[in-house]
Amino acid sequence: MRTPRPGECGIIAGMGKHAKIAAVVVLSGGQDSATCLALAVKKHGADHVAAITFKYGQRHQIETAYAKRLAKRFGVKTHNVVTMDFYRHLTTNALMNDQPIARKKGASCPTTVVEGRNAAFLLAAGVWAKSLGATEIHTGVSQADFSGYPDCRAVFIRAQQRMMRLAMEWPFRIVTPFMRMTKAEEWALADRLGILDVIENETVTCYNGVPGKGCGKCPACKLRNRGLAEFRTLKSAAGKTAARPPSNKQRHSSCPHYTAKQNPIRPYP
Ligand SMILES: [Zn+2]
Repeated sequence: MRTPRPGECGIIAGMGKHAKIAAVVVLSGGQDSATCLALAVKKHGADHVAAITFKYGQRHQIETAYAKRLAKRFGVKTHNVVTMDFYRHLTTNALMNDQPIARKKGASCPTTVVEGRNAAFLLAAGVWAKSLGATEIHTGVSQADFSGYPDCRAVFIRAQQRMMRLAMEWPFRIVTPFMRMTKAEEWALADRLGILDVIENETVTCYNGVPGKGCGKCPACKLRNRGLAEFRTLKSAAGKTAARPPSNKQRHSSCPHYTAKQNPIRPYP
């Protein structure tokens, strides 16, 4: 069967007012999804971007409040907050229940893994995207700073995209601008977008639900803060050497975010 083009079918009656939406962004309220939303807005314009946030039983509802604020902050008016009630009937983990945040000996994943979460989120986002006539779904997953989450890997995203195209006969494209970026590169990108302050102070990445700089102790805070420190060190070093022409060694350094003209980060390959 030929895959229909956007607008040919699958548009829910009465959804015509959303016909201009080009992309749906999965927005949790953390650093990755907030930067991802800003990038999508830069690409398509705020009126053509929709955001979707899931209440899946996470302990910290503050994430939803921050997601709403971020959508407003970036001018995104179409924001859907969806409750996924089934998770609490199916599984347990450190993000939904009061249990230690750790990686148990011999376990492949840390206790913060919510099994199949990105698969469920992307599928639901796809259902909504199709009803809006949109084909792009943007998500801030990354395998560069791999934390043991199997559904953050490129191999999973490729499989999920194929599954969703087959499941709904719609030309979905799952966009993952940070798949191969480190956290330091993400901070650098936020800096270039002019939203460093927003990402640093108006997001919730912390597993303990502490907004902004976070608790500083959980794995999510450590990863975020280590990346921020690395970014600041690189930026400071780049500032000090900016007056001198780069040496050959610097020209070929593995620091692409501060030689942006020669090696621009291309978030949408
Ligand atoms: Zn924390």
